[in-house]
Amino acid sequence: MSPPRPTPEAAACLTVDTAAIASNWRAFAAAAGGAACGAAVKADGYGVGAREAAATVVAAGCRDLFVASWAEVEALTAQPEGVRVAVLHGVMPHEMPVALASSAVPVLVTAGQVTAWRETGRRCDVMIDTGMNRLGLSPAETLSGLLDGLAIDTLHSHLACAEVRDHPLNAAQLAAFANIAGRIPARRRALANSAGAGLGDAYRFDLIRPGLGLFGGGLLPGGAPSAPVVAITARVIQVRDVAEGASVGYGATFVADRPTRLAIAALGYADGYARALSNVGTARIGGIACPAAGRVSMDLSAFDVTGAPDVVAGDWIGIDFDVAAVARLTGRSQYELLTGLGHRYSREYR
Ligand SMILES: *Cc1c(COP(=O)(O)O)cnc(C)c1O
Repeated sequence: MSPPRPTPEAAACLTVDTAAIASNWRAFAAAAGGAACGAAVKADGYGVGAREAAATVVAAGCRDLFVASWAEVEALTAQPEGVRVAVLHGVMPHEMPVALASSAVPVLVTAGQVTAWRETGRRCDVMIDTGMNRLGLSPAETLSGLLDGLAIDTLHSHLACAEVRDHPLNAAQLAAFANIAGRIPARRRALANSAGAGLGDAYRFDLIRPGLGLFGGGLLPGGAPSAPVVAITARVIQVRDVAEGASVGYGATFVADRPTRLAIAALGYADGYARALSNVGTARIGGIACPAAGRVSMDLSAFDVTGAPDVVAGDWIGIDFDVAAVARLTGRSQYELLTGLGHRYSREYR
């Protein structure tokens, strides 16, 4: 489902750096060596906009796009010749009509899906479970003859612990996948997400499926942080001066220890500006850090602008939203932070 169109009246703006998405994708593609490099653009392109994210990576050379569901295919119609869209949840019985009318292919995840799809005679991908116990055929099902006669383009599995380099499940999943994949006829084999692409050549097979690393989260395969993609700015609605001892916001959790100037900005937890950033987030005006003062509310946050006293109502302030830093501050995952950004922003693609 596409988000609502940006409105000029929107009070917070998400600036999406498409050059950074392209450069992150190129870093994965280079590290993939002989393997192809796809892109996971599910959850509206990790919150940055699936249509624009897909157009950016396709222009950079990507030919494999992954979404979670058939509803998410809608934003990716009219791809250039040779670009493949695959649906990671496969196809359930009630989705058969939409799948058959679509040029996207399902990544079949259960024996029931395999049986139903085989009758269509159409190509597909298959997900096998090698130890995560989420979606996919078990190794026993995979090797039972169930897949005989199925036209498999790509055989997939997915790593549970790729961001923990030495986790024993990585090597165990790799060994299980290599063993099974060698016995199933498929055009390509794919195992690695973003973090998996950094685990070494053995994990890359014929195709990698990075997502987070394209959008400014996690690390590039070489170990450098992914280039930041999103920046948030919010409109200041009111500037107010409060006396020493005055409290701010719900629960009065901030008490001014000196005369303090506050900027009240149109940004809150409904915009994915986590409530856990209350009293610990920061905004920035002309390079001056302005700490969050009091609780983040649904639609508003207050920042201490005593050090940047020239700010007036109507100004835009930059909100510090380095996803790795915000993840540390809030205890949330980088995935949650990006996909939780919400649909009230006006989005600018640069
Ligand atoms: C989401 C997803 C990816 C991308 O994972 P990242 O960790 O974001 O790189 C790859 N493969 C599958 C099966 C996924 O569900």
